[in-house]
Amino acid sequence: DLPRGSRKIQPLAQDVINKIAAGEIIVAPVHALKELIENSVDAGATQLEVVVKDGGLKLLQITDNGHGIDKDDLSLLCERFTTSKLKAFEDLQSIETYGFRGEALASISHIAHLTVVTRTAESSCAWRAQYADGKLVPPKPGQSAEPKSQAGRQGTQITVEDLFYSIPTRRRAFRSHSEEYAKIIDMVGRHAIHCAHVGFSCKKHGESARSLQIPVNASTVDRIRAVHGTQIANEVVHWTTSNERWGFKADAWVSNANYSVKKTILLLFINHRAVESSAIKKAIDATYATFLPKGGHPFVYLSLEIEPNRVDVNVHPTKREVNFLNEDEIIEAICDEIRSELAKVDTSRTFLTQT
Ligand code: ADP
Ligand code: MG
Repeated sequence: DLPRGSRKIQPLAQDVINKIAAGEIIVAPVHALKELIENSVDAGATQLEVVVKDGGLKLLQITDNGHGIDKDDLSLLCERFTTSKLKAFEDLQSIETYGFRGEALASISHIAHLTVVTRTAESSCAWRAQYADGKLVPPKPGQSAEPKSQAGRQGTQITVEDLFYSIPTRRRAFRSHSEEYAKIIDMVGRHAIHCAHVGFSCKKHGESARSLQIPVNASTVDRIRAVHGTQIANEVVHWTTSNERWGFKADAWVSNANYSVKKTILLLFINHRAVESSAIKKAIDATYATFLPKGGHPFVYLSLEIEPNRVDVNVHPTKREVNFLNEDEIIEAICDEIRSELAKVDTSRTFLTQT
């Protein structure tokens, strides 16, 4: 217990700071997985395999065929604020990678057991390293903490075990593994639809059947079909729109007026980052409400590209939300486009039923 009456202000120890920060960035297993997927895509991977045990709490493993990590960088890999992606603060305005804070792997290493196996094109072998609290650690007491060579293909495999072992209250709060797994499948599915030219697979540890499998050359409709089913895939229309004044481009696949689901499915990407926006969701729902039967909702996959200097990606360490200029105008333009697409389909249906 803290002594009462002692008001002396003292700095927190670094490991306490790191653990607090980690708990903020990684709230559930799916948040760790999102960071790992983003790292693999940043690394130019075209194939991504995810294996999960106990909703990600026991095991989260992601294997990619990206550019790999240099052996010499392994000692710094899990230090907080070490990154190969951002140099100056101003670069944030034009950042094209998902990552930039160098916090993800550091955070994970403070709240889980983390193992990396990686090989670059230049290296003659793969290297395995284990981490705890930001630093290389020996696999077993008495062994060396230095990375060990082994056979392996180019790319990176990150294994995260016993997530939240160091935050027992958080770990106990997870009631249902299948709920956490559903969130993971949803997150993999979002990226599988958005990341063209990248193949994805996701399965539970020890099972041979995959929950999700998308081949590298699948088209966008193929991807929507694989993740959300044939019905939705058959009822989506594709449109694009742009506006120079508000500095944005939109590329979308949305369900038509003949089809609805019980709960809105919104897959939103802003500058290729999976984000959430209650403002966009509300506006889209309201737009569809006049076209769909009561209680019916749309499927919307919306990829927005906004001029980087109009977007602030650094609103929160989780990067789950972004701020951008002229939000109202951009939302209005998108809803206008949806309205005219829905009207088109509506007239074609009237036309069909009349003949
Ligand atoms: P950030 O992505 O913000 O740079 P991370 O902690 O997520 O921070 O990753 C730290 C660094 O580790 C990255 O900048 C990158 O150089 C390297 N890295 C992480 N994951 C991978 C991967 N799958 N393939 C190649 N390099 C990776
Ligand atoms: Mg990252």
